[in-house]
Amino acid sequence: MVKSLILSAIFMALTVLPAFASEVHWSYKGDTGPEYWGCLNEEFGKAIGSAQSPIDVQMGRVEQTGGAKLGIHYVDGAFSVLNNGHTIQMAPEVKNESYITLDGEKHYLQQFHFHVPSEHHINGVTLPMELHFVNKSDAGKLAVVALLFKEGGSYSNSKGDGSNKILAPAWENMPTERNATARIAKFAITKLLPAKLTNIQYSGSLTTPPTAEGVSWIILDERAYAADAQFKKFNTVIGDNARPVQPLNDRRLYLSSGVRQ
Ligand SMILES: [Zn+2]
Repeated sequence: MVKSLILSAIFMALTVLPAFASEVHWSYKGDTGPEYWGCLNEEFGKAIGSAQSPIDVQMGRVEQTGGAKLGIHYVDGAFSVLNNGHTIQMAPEVKNESYITLDGEKHYLQQFHFHVPSEHHINGVTLPMELHFVNKSDAGKLAVVALLFKEGGSYSNSKGDGSNKILAPAWENMPTERNATARIAKFAITKLLPAKLTNIQYSGSLTTPPTAEGVSWIILDERAYAADAQFKKFNTVIGDNARPVQPLNDRRLYLSSGVRQ
């Protein structure tokens, strides 16, 4: 009797222990891959609604008005570089200095990271890399600015070999081991951004578990450039890390303008 009570107490303790999202193993392939994320734990399952990201952006569906006015105020400075096993993530050491505004509301840059190949498709086409600048308002609302990369050197940021020289310090110091970090004393984040900040906006989700919705997506219309060797280096360290595109459902896409602040 005592034994069975103890056993049932242990059983109950095990069943009520929350599975912390950060501890749940997920990946981009196999039985912990994107098609199974919703089954890996309850929180992941609940997060998947009808407004998921990424999506295939059909340019013909983009409405000319209705987007929020974008302002970007990013500041060059020291960044940490983390290999978190899912991506390479860079975070500003000085918090609340870099931000974007959406219709005047500030969202502070938390970190930015990369996906190879791109997560968003444009008219059904995948690009070699996508960068996500993740910004958060004081109210906790997330707004992600996506910058898509093409291969090539016709770009002021390019070295003669076609590689993106702004990314170079991060690529040269890229931590190859999971949870390893590096530091870049002065990273020119402002030079990563294209000249024109015209963008396409829609409401979506995070693209990694838990894929919580209510995220404002801002996809820059102008492309950045980097060399195939840079895409390949990332891919060698991290592997493919793009979630497949999700159904648009009844969501709308809006064109908007943007300015540097
Ligand atoms: Zn991302």
